[in-house]
Amino acid sequence: MFKRAKPAQLLRKPSWAQPLLEDLATNGTLIYFPGSAEFADSETNYYTAQANEVQSAAVARPHSAQEVATVLKALRRHLPDSVPIAIRGAGHATFAGAAKAENGVTVDTRGLRGIDILPGGVVRIGAGHEWLDVYTALEAHEPPLTVAGGRAGRVGVAGFLLGGGISYFSSQYGFGADSVRTWEVVLANGDIIRASREDPETADLWDALRGGSTNFGIVTAVEMACFPHPAHFRCSNLFYLYPARQATLQALVDQGSRPDLAVTHAIWAITHVAGMPFKVINVMASTTDPANCGGLDGFLNAPGRVPLVGALKERKHSHFAKQVGNLSPKDGSRTINRSISFKLNSQFLNTAVDMWYGFVESTRHVSGILNTLVFLALPTSMLQVSRDTSAPSFPDPKPTKNSQGLCPEDGPLAIMEICLTWRNADDDAFMIEKGTQFLREVKLAAKEMGLEHCYIFPNYAWPQEHVIQSYGADRLAVLRRVASRWDPDGFFQYRVIGGYKINV
Ligand SMILES: Cc1cc2nc3c(=O)[nH]c(=O)nc-3n(C[C@H](O)[C@H](O)[C@H](O)COP(=O)(O)OP(=O)(O)OC[C@H]3O[C@@H](n4cnc5c(N)ncnc54)[C@H](O)[C@@H]3O)c2cc1C
Repeated sequence: MFKRAKPAQLLRKPSWAQPLLEDLATNGTLIYFPGSAEFADSETNYYTAQANEVQSAAVARPHSAQEVATVLKALRRHLPDSVPIAIRGAGHATFAGAAKAENGVTVDTRGLRGIDILPGGVVRIGAGHEWLDVYTALEAHEPPLTVAGGRAGRVGVAGFLLGGGISYFSSQYGFGADSVRTWEVVLANGDIIRASREDPETADLWDALRGGSTNFGIVTAVEMACFPHPAHFRCSNLFYLYPARQATLQALVDQGSRPDLAVTHAIWAITHVAGMPFKVINVMASTTDPANCGGLDGFLNAPGRVPLVGALKERKHSHFAKQVGNLSPKDGSRTINRSISFKLNSQFLNTAVDMWYGFVESTRHVSGILNTLVFLALPTSMLQVSRDTSAPSFPDPKPTKNSQGLCPEDGPLAIMEICLTWRNADDDAFMIEKGTQFLREVKLAAKEMGLEHCYIFPNYAWPQEHVIQSYGADRLAVLRRVASRWDPDGFFQYRVIGGYKINV
């Protein structure tokens, strides 16, 4: 799908390289070309093989907001319009060009560091961190703290939050981005802005960034509300044989729809590995309820649970984030993640699993295949918190929807995610086409049952999808207005690739 650049091409510096280097020379070396260790380091360690294979012409490696501003201004001065720019975080987006500019300049934000606990229950996090760094630092505090960040530890802070972000604590605290008090962001003109809900001057930008992807600026740090690490954070990776399917799906629907279970979170997954005759169901569940089963009874008592594996244990948030990360396909796999949403309904979840078998059959011949179907719920409680956190935005003095166009009346919703992994590049097109077809068919079936929902969750979306448009026309209009205020030339819409754009 993406052309691989030839090595000879990469060693020859493009015509814009020299003026850019000279411009930046006075500010220390912030830009690197092929042949340097810094370039090689920035180009690798993406989550997918497809992303690793895209090759930038140069990478910029700033270490502060000021350096990001310097780089951005220099890129605007010297790069021809045809040369793309991308922003890289921890590299966990699951498609190739999300965070890397083919034959262009990739701004690697991983050098933006620092985790500082501020007064008032807020932590300032440099945009270049992964969530595990944050949990580890907050748990070392006395008393231990945590935040509503990514469920897998290696996911990047800014990329996760710009897509909203679903955490183990989402039922109580909304999307991860709802906990952001202040975004520090470098605008297209190089200005460094602090955008916060409480500041009427910048509240629109604060709101827009909560799911607004790469349309507004380069995030250099966030200040996020943290909370005491739950005294009892209990979690488990539960494993089941196939007959547990109906009971575990019902438990997921209960978890997503019963207000008394808002202390729990669960991810339901079924995996098919090439050559393995049986199907394994895996539920990653957590609760902050100290009582016996912590509201996870439906999962713990489901028949077909593999005994001894995955007892409910009291753990640190960091521990579970590490464990869940280890269950994901290993870094550098050929993989796609993509999702659709519909109303949470146990009959329909079972229908979707039935349809999944048709898909699995059609990909059985693909070398190294590992297919996982995932369900998770967006409970009404989560959508309520998210809506109530929204900042007033014209024409809504009291917003009825959250920053991604969702309201409590939409809930509870289900997100159905497919995670497909295979061995050979020759199978890329086939796997993408088959996965897309499966999602299309399930969406149609949801529509026929009156359960469809247009929302596309940005963190599990695919480049051709109209993610921001799925937030609805009202929200799109608000985001476009905010962009025209803070980036009047549309630099981030037209010159910066990756993410999901408001101009499509
Ligand atoms: C194993 C795994 C587990 C995951 N778990 C979760 C989960 O629990 N909950 C959830 O919501 N999502 C989850 N995701 C999805 C993940 O949150 C998104 O893919 C997210 O975009 C990754 O951010 P990143 O910085 O790691 O990736 P990158 O690929 O580096 O960046 C992702 C996007 O964000 C942009 N971006 C990154 N940093 C900045 C910045 N500083 N300023 C502006 N733009 C920036 C990039 O340009 C790119 O478009 C998971 C993904 C994987 C692979």
